[in-house]
Amino acid sequence: MTENQGKNIPPKADPPRAEKPRPASGGGEAPAQKSEARSFNERRPVLAGRPPIVVVMGHVDHGKTTLLDYIRKTNIAAKEAGGITQSIGAYEIWHPNNAPQMRPSESARKITFVDTPGHEAFSKMRARGANIADLAILVVAADEGVKPQTVESIKILNETKTPFVVAITKIDKGGADIEKVKNELTAAGVLLEGYGGQVSCEPISAKTGECINELLDLVLLATDVEHLTYDPDAPASGYVLETKIDSQRGLEATVIIKNGILKQGDLIATPTACGRIKILENFMGDAAKFLEPSAPGLIIGFEKLPEVGEEFCIGSNTVGAETLETPAGQKIMPPPAAFSDGKTPLLKIILKAEDSGSLEALSQIINAIAAEKPLKIVSESVGDVHDNDVNLAISTQAMIIAFKSRVHKAAKTLAEANRITIIASEIIYELLKTVEEFLKQAEKPTSTGEMEILAIFNQSKPEKQVVGGKVISGAFRNKAMFKIIRGAEQIGSGRVLNIQENKKDAPQINAGSEAGLLVNSETLIQVGDRLVIE
Ligand code: GDP
Repeated sequence: MTENQGKNIPPKADPPRAEKPRPASGGGEAPAQKSEARSFNERRPVLAGRPPIVVVMGHVDHGKTTLLDYIRKTNIAAKEAGGITQSIGAYEIWHPNNAPQMRPSESARKITFVDTPGHEAFSKMRARGANIADLAILVVAADEGVKPQTVESIKILNETKTPFVVAITKIDKGGADIEKVKNELTAAGVLLEGYGGQVSCEPISAKTGECINELLDLVLLATDVEHLTYDPDAPASGYVLETKIDSQRGLEATVIIKNGILKQGDLIATPTACGRIKILENFMGDAAKFLEPSAPGLIIGFEKLPEVGEEFCIGSNTVGAETLETPAGQKIMPPPAAFSDGKTPLLKIILKAEDSGSLEALSQIINAIAAEKPLKIVSESVGDVHDNDVNLAISTQAMIIAFKSRVHKAAKTLAEANRITIIASEIIYELLKTVEEFLKQAEKPTSTGEMEILAIFNQSKPEKQVVGGKVISGAFRNKAMFKIIRGAEQIGSGRVLNIQENKKDAPQINAGSEAGLLVNSETLIQVGDRLVIE
């Protein structure tokens, strides 16, 4: 931790409640790990205390972001696309602090907050969030009470055996009815203090800040019972919260540390990725030589992106590889067996997303569609849309779906020239709607057509050949795939990029008419060839 950290984070303080004093995360010399030098049987770990890692869960719009925002004293809610939190992040605070200077008081202790995404598409990540967490704050709005995602959150908390406290939010609102919410919670199986159980509850307002300090007191009290400790001599381990490709800095992984001390220079591995920590930063983006549990940190040095939710451990640079990866970090998906007969029209998709959590969520939904519809994910990867993605789309005849990823200008130009569709949006529903519309198109019955080539106009580039011919049977459609038949043999294949009749663009040309074609084919078409659409 450095002097320049956020105003609410004190510089160079010892970790709270450590049974053995330790330097603050990121500053000074990293403590040596002695475990390598001793055998397992000899080692008697001296455990140190660690701060709680807390997630906020609950129904959409019940005030999770506003609460996290209030606690962090920033305003991320306004920046969210589509009004939904769609990525995971983490930050540390000290509580209590002496407002307004934000200096931690003598008794201040650290709490790490992990943002949990709000949309139900992220339930998997949210479930992981609960696993990563030592404690959850279950948020229930005082004016609305228990809702489906409240129930879902309670289920996840019970299944993952995560302790939690309840925050009844929005008590400043007119329709607030705290007693009603408490009764509903009891009915949903949450046994509150004073209602026959031991779950603590605090009515709060994230708008006025009323009772948020009391809520944070409750968080610390609830985690005291857990006696959270770590072994400073153990190899560092923890979880991957988020991954990202930064155009300047390369592969970035946000992690949260649960044991040991994570140091710059460590070898690090997850079940699917490995590397060496070249750059280690704390959550404020300051360089850190080491980080202690339960700090969030950013790592640069993975050779490929690990998966969100995976556990990492240091001391190894080998992985339990599960999937085949291309050098570009793209996962090549196997074709779904149900649609590999070569006849069913397939909508092929290349998925891109800003970070691995978003990619996972989108991929999950698209794969659910693919189980029922003729749709195939050709590849999926994190990062901006570059021309190599478009080249993959050209060679596989796929469209590109980009979720919160930037589309580079060169990629856009290349896509336009080759009539590759790129759909980019920050809103998941928009992307899904477009996929459904394309599916409707792709599922329309196809008609066959055959054209005899009568003239070659331009073949300076095979991917942009301009030829002319006459449709001798069926109809010749724009954007259709065709086989090239020379004599009795198929000598190649290609795709119609544009079709014109009397120098005007046309969707299709029927038998008996002549047409000019712009086509993409690796094979140079000759006069006399027949182009056949099946
Ligand atoms: P999330 O979907 O659970 O993250 O909910 P948000 O934090 O985005 O809050 C949803 C809406 O409720 C926003 O318009 C907030 O301004 C509002 N809100 C959140 N907490 C409070 C509160 O304590 N009091 C009032 N009056 N409004 C709140």
